[in-house]
Amino acid sequence: MNTIKDLFNIQYPIIQGGMIWTSGWKLASAVSNAGGLGLIGSGSMYPDVLREHIQKCKKATDKPFGVNIPMLYPNLEEIIQIIIEEGVKIVFTSAGNPKTYTAYLKEHDITVVHVVSSLKFALKAQDAGVDAVVAEGFEAGGHNGRDETTTLALIPMVKEKINIPLIAAGGIATGASMFAVMALGADGVQVGSRFVASDEASSHRDFKKMVVDAKEGDTHLTLKELAPVRMLKNKFYHDVATLYSKGPSVDELKDLLGRARAKRGMFEGDLDEGELEIGQVSGLIHDIKPAALIIKDMVDEFKATQSKMGQVSI
Ligand code: NDP
Ligand code: NDP
Repeated sequence: MNTIKDLFNIQYPIIQGGMIWTSGWKLASAVSNAGGLGLIGSGSMYPDVLREHIQKCKKATDKPFGVNIPMLYPNLEEIIQIIIEEGVKIVFTSAGNPKTYTAYLKEHDITVVHVVSSLKFALKAQDAGVDAVVAEGFEAGGHNGRDETTTLALIPMVKEKINIPLIAAGGIATGASMFAVMALGADGVQVGSRFVASDEASSHRDFKKMVVDAKEGDTHLTLKELAPVRMLKNKFYHDVATLYSKGPSVDELKDLLGRARAKRGMFEGDLDEGELEIGQVSGLIHDIKPAALIIKDMVDEFKATQSKMGQVSI
């Protein structure tokens, strides 16, 4: 029995995280077709682009899939209406207050999951009536919490206090790490970085290659005064670090960040000037492969780990 499989009606409790410029309909449908849950990352999509991706996803898979909505999105109301009109059944909200839309989405028969980085927000999400939470640790790429709680510490602390299904995220790219977080109390996993290095991710080839080449220590969580974000240490990152050494104001940080840095880096492949969001676990990702193979390898390794751990004695 697995509550996450039952909640979404999927074969494996593996969710592909919604990632801007990376998880369009191609990746989401490939993951869903392989037995996981694919999520379209709407944060990078203008409303008509989102509608197009939902329609293409429905054509490409007859399995469940969902949409991730960062609550910071400027035309939130408009994309929520599109999601309802297009009959999307699963929504993952992130980066904002789950109280705003959870009840409304649930009235439309939509399963709602909220992404959090702390126990405090997990409890808030549970109070707001979500069906499950994703607890994402400090290791994760992209937007992240301020408290730097790692996945290893966060999952059991959230598990201890909530009574709805729990999905672990941050640092999970293998079947062994999936086994580890499930041992800590998670019912399933959300995986981001591993799916960046997939054939179907819409991010630029050169960014994917840089992810594959990344080693331990090549990412850092920065820009906490704006929205904390973990990224690769490229030229743009070093420009940010140089500015920090001068004790910048928030406006100076905003000026340096400018607009559409993430698109420039991850979608257009400007590896020097763009923002390249990826998790710490990139140091463990050594190849670009089809999403279906990523899922198969994780499931096989999970089972091998389970049987190996059955022999371990202490
Ligand atoms: P798609 O069905 O993949 O894309 C349809 C529309 O969505 C296009 O307008 C496209 O942008 C946009 N789009 C695709 N992925 C995302 C995303 N994750 N976030 C926001 N917008 C997105 O078909 P296409 O034929 O347009 O593109 C095929 C593939 O080619 C893309 O999936 C991508 O992998 C790649 N591509 C790479 C580009 C680059 O690196 N500079 C630019 C375009 C495509 P757009 O109009 O910019 O294509
Ligand atoms: P910026 O303000 O720097 O730029 C906005 C980007 O979003 C542009 O590239 C723009 O595309 C695109 N975009 C898509 N839809 C809209 C819209 N309706 N209005 C304006 N711009 C739009 O933001 P970021 O690139 O840093 O972030 C974009 C979104 O992604 C935000 O909603 C943010 O919360 C989310 N995000 C989520 C992350 C996560 O981990 N879940 C990580 C980082 C960001 P164009 O250049 O073609 O105009």
